[in-house]
Amino acid sequence: MSASISYGTTNIAYSVEYRDRKTLAIEVHPDSSVLVVAPINTTDEKIQSKVEKRASWIAKQQRFFSGKPDIAQVKEWVSGENMYYLGRQYRLKVVLGKPDVKLKGKYLLVSVPNKKNRRQIETLVNAWYLQHARIKFEERIKRFDHILRQEGLQMNSLIIRKLEKRWGSCTPKGNIVINSDLIKAPIHCVDYVIVHELCHLKFHHHGPEFWNLLNKYCPDWVGLKERLENFGI
Ligand SMILES: [Zn+2]
Repeated sequence: MSASISYGTTNIAYSVEYRDRKTLAIEVHPDSSVLVVAPINTTDEKIQSKVEKRASWIAKQQRFFSGKPDIAQVKEWVSGENMYYLGRQYRLKVVLGKPDVKLKGKYLLVSVPNKKNRRQIETLVNAWYLQHARIKFEERIKRFDHILRQEGLQMNSLIIRKLEKRWGSCTPKGNIVINSDLIKAPIHCVDYVIVHELCHLKFHHHGPEFWNLLNKYCPDWVGLKERLENFGI
């Protein structure tokens, strides 16, 4: 038998095998297929409710097998979801309380007056990311001040916002735009994007002079770029 349940905006399909056993088990296979091994005579409703209860776990296993961290995955804003901050993985934990977000151990702890208000959770977490992106990116840019001095360059302002399909850009007026999602990536990848964009203050293209300059200030950029690509966007 096969069936499916919906989990937020995704659909989890599963097949069922009945065996002579006492307990029900759920397996997620490396091809992301889901198999429910159930005792003979288990009702469809019971199986479905078990799958629903384990949906967050199943989705997590499927992401694991897909081989990519899930910073770009659609979030459901429920406890148990993976969240990334500076390349480290945290679990989202939603608790009751006054609106607040903080890191605590392995958790990104969000308190809200109503745990079912997913929109508020999303808004709070995104504001938290943005606030930390601003602090971190400014701090990292200061570390590369010597590039501006040595190359006689000037940066206008730092703009942080969601960008589609890119990590950063440099405008002709000397503004550097960084994707707010970059705060989820490892700090060395953050540095690579920053140095890349600072180099664009001198060369607004990807010609050989640009790559020479980037190699000078970020010699291991190839590996960092690859690492960043593995993070998805
Ligand atoms: Zn570029």
